[in-house]
Amino acid sequence: MNKRRSFIKSGLLTASAPLLHLSLPMLSMASETSKKGKHWIWINPDHKQEAAAITKEYAALKDAGIRGILFESDSEKHFRAAKQLGLEGHRWNWTMNNGSKELLAKHPEWYAVSRDGKSCATHPPYVGYYRWLCPSKPEVIAFLKNEAEKILAKDYIDGLHLDYIRFCDVVLPLNLWSQYKVDQRTEMAEYDFCYCETCRAKFKAQTGKDPLEFTYPDEALSWRLFRYEAINNVVNTLAEVAQKHKKWISAAVFPTPEVARRNVRQDWTNWNLSAVFPMIYHGFYQEEVKWIGEAVKEGVHFLNGKFPLYAGIYLPDFKGNMEDLAAGMGHAMKNGAAGISLFGRPSSEVLAVLKQYP
Ligand SMILES: [Zn+2]
Repeated sequence: MNKRRSFIKSGLLTASAPLLHLSLPMLSMASETSKKGKHWIWINPDHKQEAAAITKEYAALKDAGIRGILFESDSEKHFRAAKQLGLEGHRWNWTMNNGSKELLAKHPEWYAVSRDGKSCATHPPYVGYYRWLCPSKPEVIAFLKNEAEKILAKDYIDGLHLDYIRFCDVVLPLNLWSQYKVDQRTEMAEYDFCYCETCRAKFKAQTGKDPLEFTYPDEALSWRLFRYEAINNVVNTLAEVAQKHKKWISAAVFPTPEVARRNVRQDWTNWNLSAVFPMIYHGFYQEEVKWIGEAVKEGVHFLNGKFPLYAGIYLPDFKGNMEDLAAGMGHAMKNGAAGISLFGRPSSEVLAVLKQYP
């Protein structure tokens, strides 16, 4: 994974470094968990990597207790190599953030609009690759449904893993405030979405109010709820596609239900997933390793057994300290995580630590 990607995953590019119905496949897969391992890893497949090197790398993952790989792009070679070793291969896919040049040119009207009236099609917030789609437009939902259909129809893909399944960050993780020179104790208009004509009209039809007329938009509870439900609807629509294919649907989400709703309007405990992968990247929130366990505990509590939670941990945050890494994994597992999901290419030392949590 290159540096840019590693930051994209948690939200943003920084200057200093670079998403219940327990479906049948979920139940049948769960029974095989023990021999399959229980951990996961996000990987951006290198399309030039030789077959022998891929097999060697993935065999080490399998040996360390990895159950499946979340692949950021579609490479049949990588998926099949993983599957041959008994690993699952899921397609990690950007959902609401879509910077496709073709889409931007063809459908600029599909993009989200900020409270100060700027579209992500022309004025991406924070960084150039922040191109958020509006979740209320039927055309957008139809497009995402079709994308999911295309991915899940492939025989070598075991599931769809949703990423960027949320609104733009109205509040950034604390560690990034200085980087972007923002003080986000109140929600700033330029980072607050979506105030497009479709969203405004739909909300007005439901409540009689225009969200642009709120004196304190960050305190407008029904307006918040409207936006949670817009993303919930996208996810649950895509979940139906996955169920039709008898395949998994999972999501990479913000670290706790509370942070997810507050920072990015993401209400993930109300989604119909097979599993969830909160990105519990403590460094981004200036938290200690112990907080990983606290975040897991909160997520597991609100999920109340609806589907399993795999704790996403950000390897660079551990700065090579294997004791801290072992402690972080321990806190996650002790507090009810079904397993760990690694972000970052693991060294043999990292895999040895993971092996301690079979
Ligand atoms: Zn909208």
